[in-house]
Amino acid sequence: MLKLITGLRHFQSHLFESHRALFERLGEGQSPEVLFITCSDSRINPNLMTNTAPGDLFILRNAGNIIPPHGSGNTGEAATIEFAVTALGVKDIIVCGHSACGAMKGVLHPENLDSMPAVKSWLSFADATRRIVNENYAHLEEEDKLNVAIQENVLVQIENLRTLPSVAAGLVAGKLRIHGWTYKFQTGEVFCYSQEEGQFLPAVDVDYDKAQTRPKMAASAI
Ligand SMILES: [Zn+2]
Repeated sequence: MLKLITGLRHFQSHLFESHRALFERLGEGQSPEVLFITCSDSRINPNLMTNTAPGDLFILRNAGNIIPPHGSGNTGEAATIEFAVTALGVKDIIVCGHSACGAMKGVLHPENLDSMPAVKSWLSFADATRRIVNENYAHLEEEDKLNVAIQENVLVQIENLRTLPSVAAGLVAGKLRIHGWTYKFQTGEVFCYSQEEGQFLPAVDVDYDKAQTRPKMAASAI
């Protein structure tokens, strides 16, 4: 705790002054363009890795960057996402998994979670991830299986995200784009899911205009 108090003093006496104009402007309101959904893991810093400032990212974090699908009850995730889309009008949603994710280890081995019933229950929102891995990647070594689980889970959670009414409507209206990312914190690399290629590619190589949307249907007779 001493480290935090010392850091707080440094922030107030040095850093705040150099950003005073920004903080005063933010006092009038926020208008972030991106909702960033990621894991609670202490090794991830969304603002640091994207070189963004206070006010740029609306951030939702939990164990495993999980998004309970619509109908799961009154979850904080659904409320946070609905607020970001409806009240703030974010244009992009990023779902970002990460290397060495402890939550994904738990998803692959729920038998190790008996002493943490709340965690076990929460991770059931990633049951599809475990089944996808077990039925399609059983031949892989444990480390590779974990890396696949981290990627597949991002795609599973994006499917859940699309079930939320505000997100579904925003996608059809063309006001919203969804991006699946994985972050390798040991190297600083970020990979983005490419719909065209069907795999995660270095984020700098991906065409963001082809991010996941859902075009409005053309009117047709039934
Ligand atoms: Zn994690």
